[in-house]
Amino acid sequence: MTSNTPNLTESHSAIRARYDAIVARGLKLDMTRGKPAPEQLDLAAGLLETVNSHDFKAADGTDTRNYGGLEGLPEARALMATILNAPAADVLIGGNASLQLMFDAMVRCHLFPLPGSTAAWGKADTVRFLCPVPGYDRHFAITEHLGYEMVTVPMTGHGPDMDVIEALVANDASVKGIWVIPTYNNPTGESVNAETAGRLAAMKTAAPDFRIFWDDAYAVHHLGDDRDIVPSILELCRAAGNPDRAFVFGSTSKITHAGAGLSAFASSPANIAWTKNTLSKQTIGPDKISQIRHVRLLKDAAGIEAHMAKHAAILKPKFDVVLEVLGAELDGTHLATWTSPKGGYFISLDTKPGFARRVVALADAAGVKLTAAGATYPHGKDPRDSNIRLAPSYPGLGDLRLATEVVALCVKLAWLEEQ
Ligand code: PMP
Repeated sequence: MTSNTPNLTESHSAIRARYDAIVARGLKLDMTRGKPAPEQLDLAAGLLETVNSHDFKAADGTDTRNYGGLEGLPEARALMATILNAPAADVLIGGNASLQLMFDAMVRCHLFPLPGSTAAWGKADTVRFLCPVPGYDRHFAITEHLGYEMVTVPMTGHGPDMDVIEALVANDASVKGIWVIPTYNNPTGESVNAETAGRLAAMKTAAPDFRIFWDDAYAVHHLGDDRDIVPSILELCRAAGNPDRAFVFGSTSKITHAGAGLSAFASSPANIAWTKNTLSKQTIGPDKISQIRHVRLLKDAAGIEAHMAKHAAILKPKFDVVLEVLGAELDGTHLATWTSPKGGYFISLDTKPGFARRVVALADAAGVKLTAAGATYPHGKDPRDSNIRLAPSYPGLGDLRLATEVVALCVKLAWLEEQ
């Protein structure tokens, strides 16, 4: 037996009996998406009370009910600048979803030449886009929707593999960009370190209009005091002589109300001017009432910090339960590995190659819905059929314990079935 040979102390029949007993309970548990739990939404209940029919003016007296303010209110830009690690003057406020900003940004690149280029991406026969894996399914969906070829790049534990990226971008001008989730990646939980960020900013790209889509969805979503702090990509790009390389996105979806938050975009002055040129045809301005609601509730970086500590107090015990059960059930079995993130919304579980889809199907039959196997890869296809994204935020602690036990049992059962 090598050190990696699967090793189960329970018999097949004992595991099967535990699984069947759970199936018989007719559970309905859901660990599919990174949705905040109702108690987390309650933390921002004040959002609905910070504005009323007598009190709706911005700091400079602007009537937030009326048209205008394409860039966002100054106080909202200042607030979101602290999350995006950018100067407020280089921040635009969007609607409720950063995903929409990302989609729009990519469509703009598809339709209109970027600063530094004479042709829109969509004019090229082939556009390639780098997709670090495992990654976020909705990034891949946007890329696929525009007909771009997705080139996968492995993750290293401190962001995407820069050796692979540098080789891909150096001589191929059809490689137009890369998705990066710099802080607490969805789903692996890892963060980009200073070296990776510096190399992304400084690398030589054949495409003059290469863009990093830097989706900092979890910039302030720490679970404890041991935190990952990622450097400002905009500053690094500027210092490296590539000032227009990064598009930075973020939102308060996992800070306040996921369906009614505030999104923001930051980039170089040239990219902001380029973006505003199209945006001004698209809208007269974003929802300023939502902006003052957020500013009044969160106030500033210290307000965000205090608010996020309350989220961590709810989320940390949930992550701990999942990790505890995975450890108790699977440690030493050599059937799976999993991440133990310092923040974000996910735990990433890797089964032995070839088992993820079966595990997800077995869990589904036992009443536990998991993110579809393969979802963390372009086109929903994990070539190793190994990665499963676990989302601990929504279920209560009891349900989470049970759901994770089901996952672990299914990992064992899937392997035993093959023996
Ligand atoms: N980016 C990442 C990496 C995410 O995980 C999510 C939510 N699952 C989003 C963006 C969505 O953000 P928003 O609600 O602002 O569209």
